Amino acid sequence: MRLRVLDANAHFSCGSCTKCCDQPWGTLIESDKAAALEHHNFSAYPQLAGRKYYTRPHGTPEGYFVLAKGDGTRCLFLDRDGLCIIHKEMGPEAKPHGCLKFPFLVARLPQDDRVSVDFGCPAVQSDDGKLLAEQADDIAAVIPLSRRPADTTALVPLDPEVQLTQAEADALFERLEATFADAAEGDIWERFADALTVLVGTRRYKKAAGDEDNGDALIHALRSGARLPDQPQRPDTYGFAHPAAAPSPARMLFAATLFRDTCPADAPIQLSLWKRLTLMPKLMSLARLNGAYASRLLGCNLNIGQVLQHEVDPQIDPAGTALLLRYYRTRLWQRYLCGTRMSIASGLHQHIHDLNAIIFVARARAQQEHKERLDLELIRYGLNRVEFLLANQPRLFDEDRMIAWLKAQMESPAVAIQSLRLMSLRQAPAPVEAAPAEATC
Ligand code: SF4
Repeated sequence: MRLRVLDANAHFSCGSCTKCCDQPWGTLIESDKAAALEHHNFSAYPQLAGRKYYTRPHGTPEGYFVLAKGDGTRCLFLDRDGLCIIHKEMGPEAKPHGCLKFPFLVARLPQDDRVSVDFGCPAVQSDDGKLLAEQADDIAAVIPLSRRPADTTALVPLDPEVQLTQAEADALFERLEATFADAAEGDIWERFADALTVLVGTRRYKKAAGDEDNGDALIHALRSGARLPDQPQRPDTYGFAHPAAAPSPARMLFAATLFRDTCPADAPIQLSLWKRLTLMPKLMSLARLNGAYASRLLGCNLNIGQVLQHEVDPQIDPAGTALLLRYYRTRLWQRYLCGTRMSIASGLHQHIHDLNAIIFVARARAQQEHKERLDLELIRYGLNRVEFLLANQPRLFDEDRMIAWLKAQMESPAVAIQSLRLMSLRQAPAPVEAAPAEATC
């Protein structure tokens, strides 16, 4: 039987910060709920007078409309007291489903549905509020179980060539989670590098064992915490002399992750081929890591070169690192991306580019605020902006026309290492100059 498994470590209680209702992305509302707004008397709210409540821009998914904006990026229905007008007037069930279920997030595994939380939410970032287990009924009401029957025999793709049993995948994810434990060693880049070596070691083990291993030995090796027999050493994670010097696949994948930040506010959720072509110069500018664009995430013009030239301390504030570690532990436990929406190798690589996007946005903010260290506040800001972007806009791999070349790069651990170095703040030690040879007669 399929179960709904709630993240035992996640907390959430709404702090009415209104951040989820004040985002540059459109809020989708189901067509029947949109129609109900037309029949309600909102005369007590002068800010709604004469306004169109919703629109249907080209590319809006079938059966949905997009709610209008009020001041700036605020939802039209966000009242001055920080509460939702639809909720106050018509009850919670009249709100869009996306609003109802936020910040809960579900990953559909073959055998169960795992529910955790969106780290764009400031209360989630602070780990404030009630455990999810204390909100089980509320969660069940907004996140129904998948109708797919539980399948305990489905294989989990490690990469295009290697599949894991669910028991093997469980052991691998436990090992990956441990890599991101607070007590483990290394900064965030070293943790990812360690995780990549575990993936490569697992792949080599499976390839070498062929059909001879029933999985028990691999599971034991992963759970032991010891190095796998052919696990590579942790590679260097030093940043490039300049990010623009990184190999093009890493830069293209970064650009693809943050591409929607360069799109104008009226760009539809699903871009036509023509629209993509017109936006291609912005994608290439982001991939070359130069030029400027109007950033929707930051609400200002962004000069990419200036952001990257603004020097920051190579160490992220420990509290910022702790937040990032908790974020990635959560995603790995939940299998959000890894092994569900894509292979484990691709999912981990996409997580690296999510990190690149968070660091880039945090650096942009640091430049604006003349800060020289990525402190907790900046990491929270980057995480908030990027999580909302990723939750509201299609990711690269969701696009049905995603080019095969990029997809192949996502599967490659070698490219993943280059991606990891792209925004790394770690600096290679300066080469030791050889002492001048003593003059001899
Ligand atoms: S509909 Fe209500 S809950 Fe949803 S974004 Fe607008 S104000 Fe927020």
